[in-house]
Amino acid sequence: MNSLSFLRGPLLAGRAVGFGLINASKVTAKNPSFTLSRLPLHAFSSIRASDEEASARAAALNADSEAPTIFDKIIAKEIPSTIVYEDEKVLAFRDISPQAPVHVLVVPKLRDGLTHLGKADQRHGEILGHLLYAAKIVAEKEGIIDGFRVVINSGPSACQSVYHLHLHVLGGRQMKWPAG
Ligand code: 5GP
Repeated sequence: MNSLSFLRGPLLAGRAVGFGLINASKVTAKNPSFTLSRLPLHAFSSIRASDEEASARAAALNADSEAPTIFDKIIAKEIPSTIVYEDEKVLAFRDISPQAPVHVLVVPKLRDGLTHLGKADQRHGEILGHLLYAAKIVAEKEGIIDGFRVVINSGPSACQSVYHLHLHVLGGRQMKWPAG
């Protein structure tokens, strides 16, 4: 265990983590007196951002694998989730690491090559439209129809971490703009 790993649970729960910006060598070699108490609070959000970027780059390496994704397992009910809406084409369930009071993922039950939006083809037009309509149904069901945000992260530069197209439906608090 390095000198920073005790922070993993409380600060970074819900994500696979690493410590890209704070190098443990800072503590041991060059700056033996360096302590966590010297870190400004914003450093921790930098740690999280750096970690998400590294995870996203790693996830992208297997983007085109035909292997079932975590979402396939949720769709097959092999992994439990809290389902908010379901029809024959899509499943909507609560995000395991919510970024807002309402944070629901809407996924196509059949991936059909849609690992990310960047792979969309003309034949996907119907399911893409259906996903957006399902997002609206979710917003209604969750009581946020007056104001909600729909996000699609596509590719490593957008920090996509699961390569099975999905919409994030976020709401229940004031959203800021521009998004990060
Ligand atoms: P992305 O980063 O690819 O845009 O979003 C993937 C989302 O899936 C993340 O917000 C993450 O919290 C969520 N997620 C990852 N694994 C699971 C899981 O096993 N269950 C649920 N409900 N959400 C998950």
